Amino acid sequence: MAQGRKGKLNYRCPRCLMREIDMDMLYDAEKAEYYCLRCSFVGDEAEVLRLNTQFREKYGARTIRITEF
Ligand SMILES: [Zn+2]
Repeated sequence: MAQGRKGKLNYRCPRCLMREIDMDMLYDAEKAEYYCLRCSFVGDEAEVLRLNTQFREKYGARTIRITEF
């Protein structure tokens, strides 16, 4: 899977997730930061993980989509 200029891991933008928008962030290797082109969120990996965890705890099962039966 080619990922171009994206980081080794693709993280969703936590700020966009809050608005139910699925937006992959790009990775700035020089600053070691992830950034979002849509909402201009910038954060390092720890910040992104923290916000994503927060999001999951807050919205919990609401974000789980049933794709298998
Ligand atoms: Zn965003």
